[in-house]
Amino acid sequence: MSNHQPIPEDDAGQDAWLETLIVDPANSNNPLLPALQLLCRRDREHKKRLNRLLRISDGYYALARAETDSLLKHSNQQIRRLEKISRISDRYQQSLLEWNEQLRRAALRDPLTGLANRRMMIERIEEEQERARRRHTDFTLAMLDVDYFKQINDTYGHELGDRVLCSIADAINSNLRNYDLGARWGGEEFMILLPHTGLTEARDICARVQKALAGVKLAQTGQTLNITASIGLTPYRGQEEYTQTIDRADKALLRAKREGRDRIEVA
Ligand code: GH3
Ligand code: MG
Ligand code: MG
Repeated sequence: MSNHQPIPEDDAGQDAWLETLIVDPANSNNPLLPALQLLCRRDREHKKRLNRLLRISDGYYALARAETDSLLKHSNQQIRRLEKISRISDRYQQSLLEWNEQLRRAALRDPLTGLANRRMMIERIEEEQERARRRHTDFTLAMLDVDYFKQINDTYGHELGDRVLCSIADAINSNLRNYDLGARWGGEEFMILLPHTGLTEARDICARVQKALAGVKLAQTGQTLNITASIGLTPYRGQEEYTQTIDRADKALLRAKREGRDRIEVA
């Protein structure tokens, strides 16, 4: 078989070179020509098959890639959605805690004056009773009722009366110690709890409160109202039920009223 050209390096060049060998009339009688033709045909078929396989594999690869991308996108979306839900749930939980705290505070406070209400006072008295029973500590209760408060309402109206009640609450509260508790017991009646306090000290504190009440002014005009209050004072005794202590304070208060008001009666 004669061809004196050098064998090309690339595929297409080699194919063209083989083709020229096959069609070259000088090779038409070469006994190897049918074998070469056969090999070339097989080579072409193998290449065709290989190409087909490559196309199929490329298709599969593209499909798998598209599926992975879509799964990835979907899972990222889900993650973002979950993160959002978790943020909302955190915020919701925080609000719930705040609402709870507000509700708890509201349930224990008098809405008009902001002082402790009767419920909170009873809780604290129960605690003090426990302490007194276990550790033999003492505490004193003072029941305070503003004298002739109806007159304030009658003179200035109920709304100003409300504001005077707030000033009275402030005057009481600001004359107590950190660990004392002043509460609005109802209407113009207040209860004061004085832990670890004997009668002498309790009397001094009540006198201080009375003095502060005398200075309460009408918010509108700044006029001093000369408010007085009657106070029933009593210590917790031994192992008694705190309701008995409250009863005694109440009775002492009635006595203070009967005896002419603006005074402290001790039981
Ligand atoms: P006393 O010296 O006998 O205690 O006379 P008082 O007028 O204070 O007592 P009384 O029980 O006759 O009247 C209490 C008054 O307190 C009448 C009521 O309208 C008023 N009062 C009770 N609660 C409130 C309130 O929340 N706001 C206002 N403005 N007035 C109140
Ligand atoms: Mg009164
Ligand atoms: Mg009263």
